[in-house]
Amino acid sequence: MDDLLIEGARLWTGGPLRTIHVAGGHIVSVTPEPDRRERSADVAAGTTTVRLDGRLVFPGFVNVHAHLDKAMLAARVPDETGTIDEVRRTMARAKSSFTHDDVRERAARTLDRCIRHGVTAVRTHVDVDPTVGLVSLRALAELKKEYEHAIDLQIVAFPQEGIEEFPGTEQLLRQALADGADLVGGHASIAAGTAELRRQVDMVFALAEEFDVDVDFHADFGITEDYGREVTRHRDGRDYPDNLGAVHIAERTVSAGYQGRVTVGHLCGLDMVAPALRANVCDLLRTAGVAVVSTPASNLYGNGRGDAVGARRGVTRLTELMAAGVDVAVGTDNIRDAFNPWGNTDLIQNAVIASLACHLVTEQDFMTMLELHTTAPAKIMGLAGYGLAAGDEASLVVLEARSLADLLDGDVARRLVLKRGRSVGPPPPAPLEVCGGPLPGVAP
Ligand SMILES: [Zn+2]
Repeated sequence: MDDLLIEGARLWTGGPLRTIHVAGGHIVSVTPEPDRRERSADVAAGTTTVRLDGRLVFPGFVNVHAHLDKAMLAARVPDETGTIDEVRRTMARAKSSFTHDDVRERAARTLDRCIRHGVTAVRTHVDVDPTVGLVSLRALAELKKEYEHAIDLQIVAFPQEGIEEFPGTEQLLRQALADGADLVGGHASIAAGTAELRRQVDMVFALAEEFDVDVDFHADFGITEDYGREVTRHRDGRDYPDNLGAVHIAERTVSAGYQGRVTVGHLCGLDMVAPALRANVCDLLRTAGVAVVSTPASNLYGNGRGDAVGARRGVTRLTELMAAGVDVAVGTDNIRDAFNPWGNTDLIQNAVIASLACHLVTEQDFMTMLELHTTAPAKIMGLAGYGLAAGDEASLVVLEARSLADLLDGDVARRLVLKRGRSVGPPPPAPLEVCGGPLPGVAP
């Protein structure tokens, strides 16, 4: 039998300690502790029991925006210039050195770290273009199968260098989708102007419809763009900045009937749009069912370095988007490459950085930020049975913490990571057990 009883669990959402009964890869029941004995008749004899003594339990963390094909490159391809455009050129050149084994090794190392950090689902963008061809995509497709027991991996075929900007890319994207890429990506920010941006967005939607896949765009990095320069009145009677890619993406989502199937990542430019127009954009995203994934860590790293005063960091307006009812989540973006050499697979660390960047200040705000690394991205990724209720998939992480405040203490040990009821990754270090008397200490 694979029954497992997890006793003394403190759910991340609060309430009394619970016993979680796991069997067949799913959560059978989540029972308040005083009732535990009454339920014990349901549990098979010889069932393994883990006692948590009030440690926190989260559903597996979800990183909805990563770039595993480029991860762990920082030592080999350093960022020596300090501008986002130069980093793009450096990374574009570096891709010519990518081999299947190289991408596999770095991505696998990153996935191992994800598992150790209690991440059980990742959406990764993977570059597809004439420089790297389908080399990275095929390496990630292999890893998707090999890590299936531990991580749900979604692969986005991503035109990092644009589509018509790099001839040959569209055919490779089509091949990537025919080979089984889960989603098609876009890089609207690379377009030279609004007309080019619209053409790229239309090309991406054409591919999405042809292969019936969801869409995840990189859009609106541009914090130096003037979003007051191309404001026009649209059919809904509202004014929009046409050079903000998210506007055309949202309208195209509606005309394609793709509501609920489109994500826009970054959206840094929203921070530079005047408040009244910004409110229009937030409303448009909500009515179009377009989700927004913010990536504060990499935005803070890359943006505003040339600003002599008042350095702009270009973190999108998460709180305004949430207030408008837009589905939002937070991802890491790049992990230890030239786009962000400080990128990390630890989503608690990412949540702290994002809270600082977004002016989320209360304990309830921190809870919200943790939702943006768990339930919110799970919804965007369409993960069925995600959560800690009876019937959900038994994918969870036990932390060496007994309150949300404990998560702020630094590197929080993961005591147990389950994926579909099975312990995954290396065994976590056990808390110290001391026998035969107390440790010698320093007299007070
Ligand atoms: Zn990205």
